[in-house]
Amino acid sequence: MNNGTSNGSIPDDQWYEIDRNCSREELIAVSKVYAREVIDRFDLSVDVSTLEWSISMRAKRRAGAVKYSGSVPKEVILTWEYFENCGWERVAETIRHELIHIHLLNEKGDSSHGPDFKRLASKLDTEVNCARFAEPKWWVSCSSCSNRYARYRRSKLVTRPSEFQCGQCGGCLEVVENQDDPDTDESS
Ligand SMILES: [Zn+2]
Ligand SMILES: [Zn+2]
Repeated sequence: MNNGTSNGSIPDDQWYEIDRNCSREELIAVSKVYAREVIDRFDLSVDVSTLEWSISMRAKRRAGAVKYSGSVPKEVILTWEYFENCGWERVAETIRHELIHIHLLNEKGDSSHGPDFKRLASKLDTEVNCARFAEPKWWVSCSSCSNRYARYRRSKLVTRPSEFQCGQCGGCLEVVENQDDPDTDESS
């Protein structure tokens, strides 16, 4: 078993797996630990501790973003709803994507998804395009607790919620069509 650094392999996501009911602080803490491990293994020019890490509760379509001024990376922003809907594994993939941006900004002042980005994205097994995710068409919410399920298709849970119950507390479920406007105010 190889626990060494700079071995060019992606850390096993499951070592860092966290529950979707964790707090924002926990998600940030785990994300930083994970980021450090990725940086070590791939020798990226990124200093986790000089960056701000935050979670957007408002972003809807972007999985993550890096804020920078000039070509100096300042902040990594992850999207809470992406974590809630898609889970930690996808957030880990997003972190790898954002780390490539920071690395290339630091090395070359390059914030693009150009050839250098593509090469690293394939090494780090992440998407070249900034991950985006659609708003769910429906929210199926528990009437007794805060649990809710995102649904993108007209599944049985959407058409006949009374046949199901909340996985957390056994409460009744209700379906609400999602009317949220796409988020437009996030900078990258
Ligand atoms: Zn990107
Ligand atoms: Zn419930």
